[in-house]
Amino acid sequence: MKNKINLVCDECLQSNYSKNKSNTNRIIIKKFCSNCNKHTKHKENK
Ligand SMILES: [Zn+2]
Repeated sequence: MKNKINLVCDECLQSNYSKNKSNTNRIIIKKFCSNCNKHTKHKENK
């Protein structure tokens, strides 16, 4: 069973990335947001 989670930009809340659900709880990853046109924090979306 593959659970995909979305990583959404913390500033514009756009879903930019998806990843496989991991065992870690709440993850925050710094990634490039094409909407903000800069690196922002991305959180997993429930
Ligand atoms: Zn953004």
